Amino acid sequence: MSDFDLIVVGGGSGGLAGAFRAAAHGARVALLEPGELGGTCVNVGCVPKKAMWLAAELSQHITLAGELGFDTPAPKLDWREFIVHRQRYIAGIHTSYRKRLDENGIVWMPCRGRLIDRHTVESEDGTRLTAQHILIATGGRPRRPAVPGAEHGLVSDDFFNFCEAPPRVAIVGAGYVAVELAGVLQALGSQVELFVRGQRLLDSFEPDLTAELLEDTKQHGIHARFGYSLAGVESTADNGVALINTAQVRSERFDCLIFATGRSATTAGLGLELAGVELDLSGYIQVDDYQNTTAPGIYAVGDVTDRPALTPVAIAAARRLMDRVFGGKPEAKLDYSDIATVVFSHPPIGKIGLTEQEARDRYGNAVAVYRTRFRPMLHALADSPQRSLFKLVCVGPEERVVGLHLLGEGADEILQGFAVAMKKGITLSDLHDTVAIHPTSAEEVVLMR
Ligand code: FAD
Repeated sequence: MSDFDLIVVGGGSGGLAGAFRAAAHGARVALLEPGELGGTCVNVGCVPKKAMWLAAELSQHITLAGELGFDTPAPKLDWREFIVHRQRYIAGIHTSYRKRLDENGIVWMPCRGRLIDRHTVESEDGTRLTAQHILIATGGRPRRPAVPGAEHGLVSDDFFNFCEAPPRVAIVGAGYVAVELAGVLQALGSQVELFVRGQRLLDSFEPDLTAELLEDTKQHGIHARFGYSLAGVESTADNGVALINTAQVRSERFDCLIFATGRSATTAGLGLELAGVELDLSGYIQVDDYQNTTAPGIYAVGDVTDRPALTPVAIAAARRLMDRVFGGKPEAKLDYSDIATVVFSHPPIGKIGLTEQEARDRYGNAVAVYRTRFRPMLHALADSPQRSLFKLVCVGPEERVVGLHLLGEGADEILQGFAVAMKKGITLSDLHDTVAIHPTSAEEVVLMR
């Protein structure tokens, strides 16, 4: 007889969702989480990041308001005051999670866990728990590049400890964390320089849109250096840092350097080898379509696997898994196709489905592309240079929509509804049959020809 039906290792987005859903199906659940409940998303990811993004958006809108006749002084954020609001909001999430754990009879052990065998987890204090099923949801952590002096650089977790905007900031990377932190810091008072190894921002997004975003980024005063090959980092006598490239050229001094150079799965010390759980070549826990690891009865979801590193993905995978294991739905699994995703840049950029190039690689000449570039009304009124760019990728004689790409104000909020439509397999004529909401940016999606 096991102590529990399910032990969850990790109380972030995926682990909590799995624990709650299993308990709702009547399972006896224990959850091990040594840090704050909510993991990366709630504490050092989506939530505090979005709060800072909202502050940055407000700052830019206050400036726009000034240009439109409002009597507003140049915006200056009191970071400490804003952080009080941000952390109060986060504390509310912690409280609500604790309450739900209690209400659902889930046993929370505030400590690290490791596997001893296929059915046993040992906590840091030596307590051993057994269960029929184990869910690993230990997420990931920021990775620093392997160059001399890398310890002088910070990572995204450190950004959330800032109490003011450092005057000069270097950010290494071009993924969503780099772009988002650059936008926020620049809007809130820093002078930001991006150091990018490749030739563009946000590799997996539509290149037309990322090129337009780069223009917006420059308009906001961010400098971007492409083709930059980092060889090392040095600290300066006055508490700053400088970057060294492979040609041994030293950069100017920065007050701080942030590495946004990817994340690694948190698997060290988990005892995976004792239970027969294997990793893939990139260090993620190997899972099949049903989140099964290579050890029967042990599952993994979220950032510790190689699936898209997004909170709703971890949550959806965990819920379906628990519906399968405890909810009498033997075929339940997450469909990972057409997952919408947004980067909170200024303006935001989002995508669902295939880029134009991905569609051409898959469907050749059967691909048709529609674009619209326009000035959202607020920016037109203020005569600001910011443009929106939307792109639709369609396939076949019926023009089924296989890709939707949005850059512009409101893109983050517009995309979700179209994600539903794309799941239903809509065509261009379905969009044209839909009456527009005027005047909005969203109407441009149904008017593209
Ligand atoms: P996590 O949330 O990382 O949770 C893992 C938990 O496991 C942690 O709490 C950790 O303490 C715990 N743990 C680790 N080892 C052990 C152990 N041995 N025993 C017990 N517990 C352990 N996603 C979005 O969808 N939208 C966004 O806007 C967004 N913004 C982001 C911004 C930043 C800066 C970052 C870094 C991430 C962002 N993400 C965003 C990604 C999102 O945060 C992750 O995809 C999500 O948190 C993954 O959930 P998870 O449950 O897999 O892991």
